[in-house]
Amino acid sequence: MIIVMASRKREDIDYVVSRIEELGYNAHLIEGEQRTVIAAVGDERGKFRLQSLESLPHVEKVVPILQPFKLVGREAKLDDTVFNIGGVQIGGGRFCVIAGPCSVESREQILETAHAIKEAGATILRGGAYKPRTSPYSFQGLEDEGLDLLREAGDATGLPFVTEVITPDQVSSVAERADMLQIGARNMQNFGLLKAVGRTNKPVFLKRGMMSTINEFLMSAEYILSEGNKEVILCERGIRTFETETRNTLDLSAVPLLKRLTHLPVFVDPSHATGHWDLVIPMAKAAVVAGADGLMIEVHPRPSEAFSDGAQSLKPERFRQLMQEIAPLLAIVGKKL
Ligand code: PEP
Ligand code: MN
Repeated sequence: MIIVMASRKREDIDYVVSRIEELGYNAHLIEGEQRTVIAAVGDERGKFRLQSLESLPHVEKVVPILQPFKLVGREAKLDDTVFNIGGVQIGGGRFCVIAGPCSVESREQILETAHAIKEAGATILRGGAYKPRTSPYSFQGLEDEGLDLLREAGDATGLPFVTEVITPDQVSSVAERADMLQIGARNMQNFGLLKAVGRTNKPVFLKRGMMSTINEFLMSAEYILSEGNKEVILCERGIRTFETETRNTLDLSAVPLLKRLTHLPVFVDPSHATGHWDLVIPMAKAAVVAGADGLMIEVHPRPSEAFSDGAQSLKPERFRQLMQEIAPLLAIVGKKL
């Protein structure tokens, strides 16, 4: 249920929050530009009891949230969510490009890539330290050492970095060093992991599962918000279809659809979506025009030597070309880098 406040005074809000909690619900305060609402979420069966709050002074009305995703939907919060990652604004008319290698492979590789992507205009560094590989015999990442190297490359370039967490017990140690935590496609419905990142104070980059519907994607984001973490980026990275020429099929319609359903920022990863470096720039441009708030791009100084995902990785000069080619499109859609 949404409790729409008639007052924006702290004491009035606190009073209504305490009444919601007395009824056994969790209260999530959502302060929008136009109004303050409190989303009361919990056991669906007793929700009629919340209706009685309508009689309180300072409460304008109590309305049900019809969508299954309560906190991530536009019903609870009309305005786009805008937040900051190490000084980089996400959403709100800013376009953010995250770039870097699939995996951190060595100190030289991550430092060289970080400098190159920064020079080209990227504002967040990516790199996998813990890799969720299809085969247990494939490179599994440099793990803890990879995190230290990312921190070093981030500090050397002034770029915040995002890296993936694959198990709940890694979350606190990764959150100590990373600026944003990534939940990969394979873990989109790992509910224990979603709850664990939901309890941190680090933004979460949530990738769509390769066989997940939009509704399931939003319900996964709901797990994170329901634990108190409001800073989530949704990333469309392609879904599995009958097509085998591309690694996945980029579901571009997910972008405007998600923008309609949720206030959370929406990014596109054309690297994992296509699997081929020569398809990355065209699909990155399409993502800008479709209304994405940002991109995630795999870049490697020598893709032919990459430990993972070399075929879809851009060389630094191609990445520079991508940045140049999206610039006029950003001007058309009214966004700034
Ligand atoms: C990644 O970004 O490194 C990755 C493994 O992507 P995905 O989870 O989308 O496959
Ligand atoms: Mn990859």
